[in-house]
Amino acid sequence: MAKQQDKFKHVISHAKEYGYVFQSSEIYDGLSAVYDYAQNGVELKKNIREYWWKAMVQMNENIVGLDSAIFMHPTVWKASGHVDAFSDPLIDNKDSKKRYRADVLVEDYVLKLDTKIEKEVKKAAKRFGDAFNKSEFISTNPRVLGYKEKGDAILKRLGQSLEKEDLADVKALIEELEIACPLSGSRNWTDVKQFNLMFGTKLGASAETAMDLYLRPETAQGIFVNFLNVQKSGRMKIPFGIAQTGKAFRNEIVARQFIFRMREFEQMEMQFFIKPGTQKEWYEHWKEARMKWHLSLGMGEDNYRFYDHEKMAHYADAATDIEFRFPFGFKELEGIHSRTDFDLKAHEEHSGKKLQFFDHTENKSYVPYVLETSVGLDRMFLAVFSNSLQEEELENGTTRTVLKLPAVLAPTKAAILPLVKKDGLPEIARKIMDDLKWDFNVTYDEKDAVGRRYRRQDANGTPFCITVDHDTLNDDSVTIRHRDTMEQKRVKISELTTIIEQEVSMKTWLMKM
Ligand code: ATP
Repeated sequence: MAKQQDKFKHVISHAKEYGYVFQSSEIYDGLSAVYDYAQNGVELKKNIREYWWKAMVQMNENIVGLDSAIFMHPTVWKASGHVDAFSDPLIDNKDSKKRYRADVLVEDYVLKLDTKIEKEVKKAAKRFGDAFNKSEFISTNPRVLGYKEKGDAILKRLGQSLEKEDLADVKALIEELEIACPLSGSRNWTDVKQFNLMFGTKLGASAETAMDLYLRPETAQGIFVNFLNVQKSGRMKIPFGIAQTGKAFRNEIVARQFIFRMREFEQMEMQFFIKPGTQKEWYEHWKEARMKWHLSLGMGEDNYRFYDHEKMAHYADAATDIEFRFPFGFKELEGIHSRTDFDLKAHEEHSGKKLQFFDHTENKSYVPYVLETSVGLDRMFLAVFSNSLQEEELENGTTRTVLKLPAVLAPTKAAILPLVKKDGLPEIARKIMDDLKWDFNVTYDEKDAVGRRYRRQDANGTPFCITVDHDTLNDDSVTIRHRDTMEQKRVKISELTTIIEQEVSMKTWLMKM
């Protein structure tokens, strides 16, 4: 646990030191759970967004994009169920006066059981060496089975209690598990209450006529209310999808995990409109497609898993999360929900407008069902950034900090380094940079010894360093160094664009899907 916390602290400090993420309004001591993306962060975020957009919109001829407004008519949130049901169960510790999400306290308890399982596996792997069979061990070892059974039973009960709105039982569960406040160590809890997460605001110039609005807590509703406009203007046929990325706002009860849980964040959502009755196959289709997208980034299959929901949101008939192994354990990265016709029907009722599709093959109109994929851009950022940050022991006994970002997402693709600041080398380096910058985000660095510059670029996540030396003057060649392998190769300047393109292009990476 301490190791995990150290790693997480390192992630946060590295993100700040290298210009990725800053606390919002830091000079005023910051604003809780709100963050700013700095010079490198904004590039990484943009690249993740584009990688998603290409995979979802550009590569699917039946998916189109949308950019709907953050402000929406207040009835939207009545229809969607957010006014009545978008809340989280909160609980206060009477001694520390700290507020927690009751469900997260229980989930964290189960996460500790998972960690115990991992420890057992590690111990056994060490004991049995090459003969170790992990899946057999997990399915037969009594201690592992015990932890697993206990965890499953707890999550099942939590899901059922939340489903039935039985908040007294959620509290009883916390008490039975003897969960203590991480701060005060006490088990002196208040009752569990529901807390609505939407931020209210006002639209209009005078206090008397101003209209009460909400900042949108998800981008999905902007898609639903535009369903018919897009379907008609784009002459879309079912099945088709509408994708959008954009800001969402939630007054989260507990927001202490850096950019994992923010009060202002960005979502990348796609709503896929389908014929009623086909939701099971589309659910399976999108589960698989979305997992493939994640895996294409090469961050390790072991770091992902599905978590099928016991407790469904009010609109869903099937739901799963793609969970990622964050520095604090497996947590939700993306949600995939079969939303039935809940949203479109609700908007039909509240607006009085028909939101239906006329199916020519069947000669009838129906309200389509919806399959949703919803991934947090900031959570993707944290997944990519935390997984990439590594401390490596080198052969010469030193260590290096390296940010092994997937090259396709790296903010800067190459750094151009003249070996020395004289003899015409800076001029050649600048010329190379001027050529490459048409195609890639590149940087120039001439300060310090070249070894230090390499280290700086490693820590910054730059996949390539291109060094101009005295031989360049005669043979038009440079040394290209790869961040991950530290391997160096002599190549012609004229080959640089092709070499870099091959490693960083979205095509190369998306083809792995
Ligand atoms: P959680 O259970 O972690 O609160 P959720 O199930 O409420 O998340 P959804 O409503 O399904 O989340 O939202 C879709 C995605 O948006 C999530 O998978 C997550 O990646 C992202 N997301 C949700 N809330 C936040 C937040 N407060 N900060 C950053 N990202 C978020």
